[in-house]
Amino acid sequence: MAYKLFIPGPVTVSEKTLRAMAQPMIGHRSTDFVALYQSLQPDLQALFGTKDPVYLSTSSAWGSMEGSVRNVTGRKVLNCMNGAFSDKWNDVALRCGRQGGALKFEWGQPVDPQAVRRELSSGQYDAVTLIHNETSCGCMSDIASLMAVIREFPDVVSIVDTVSSFSAMAIPKDELGIDIMITGSQKALALPPGLSLLSASKRALARAAGTPDRGFYFDLLEFQRNHENGMTPSTPVIPLIYALKSKLEDIRAEGVQARYARHARLNGAVRAWGESKGFRLFPAPGHGSVTLNCFSNSLGYDLPALNKILKSKHQLVIDGGYGKLKGKTFRISNMGDETDETIAALTRALDSALAEAPKACA
Ligand SMILES: *Cc1c(COP(=O)(O)O)cnc(C)c1O
Repeated sequence: MAYKLFIPGPVTVSEKTLRAMAQPMIGHRSTDFVALYQSLQPDLQALFGTKDPVYLSTSSAWGSMEGSVRNVTGRKVLNCMNGAFSDKWNDVALRCGRQGGALKFEWGQPVDPQAVRRELSSGQYDAVTLIHNETSCGCMSDIASLMAVIREFPDVVSIVDTVSSFSAMAIPKDELGIDIMITGSQKALALPPGLSLLSASKRALARAAGTPDRGFYFDLLEFQRNHENGMTPSTPVIPLIYALKSKLEDIRAEGVQARYARHARLNGAVRAWGESKGFRLFPAPGHGSVTLNCFSNSLGYDLPALNKILKSKHQLVIDGGYGKLKGKTFRISNMGDETDETIAALTRALDSALAEAPKACA
């Protein structure tokens, strides 16, 4: 049974994108591939807001996230933690044998720039990780203020996860001074999972060159060397690259500003719906994500039962809370190809399903 995904990734993939994937294979060292790879660069660089190359990694985002930490952490990496993904990034850095510092905030609170400045001022760090949009709790940090602080520390290489905000709002990498910016295919780009995109500054590459134990698969210098020939270090996921080309055409046709405005408008529509029902937004005021709404389940609905109704009667699913917030919050994505019509249909379905859904603790 086909149903629509309003979970914060993977999201629904359009028929056009699916068709784009079903094209004949080409050799990844062929001139056809080089032409395909190089044709993507201008649009990708525009979306990243960068003059640096955009590398294509055949992995989910975590591959690039782990790889980036291995590439640029010399002394110690400061990990800004305010949700499940950023908490895990600290764990990943330690598992890679890197020295890590944990800068913890309550889930749903944004990363505080002053706290980042205090930590970095200790002088022990030469890298920092942070997540722009903490998908687990729908919390968006102020990337401009954070990068303004991080830029005060020229020895600190920044690694920024924009996995669930990329292409839904402007995140100008070069202007902000982000060294490594990472995203994935199955969030706002609305492609199937399995492809990660990342862009690294010259500073990041220089750091990598002096960093041992980078491994091979996510070695930034391998990405760069192959990029110069219009290729990837190993055989890439060519169907997803076809899909990416198709999506970049869609983005150009819509216009990037219209795309950003659409995400903001649809996000607001879902937020207004939730608030009209009496649900409070989980993240701190002013820090709600632009690509999803994470609501507190303050009315005590049985979320698995609600989702069962949504799936069987309305052919769609939402998310019933991530990790320790399971059952306590629910998340509704508006990322990707959603429209005023699909969001209106969603809120109608939610109204109808809520009317018959049981309360968990009634
Ligand atoms: C989805 C997500 C990830 C993880 O992506 P994978 O594709 O599972 O590797 C990382 N960070 C954020 C903010 C995400 O939303």
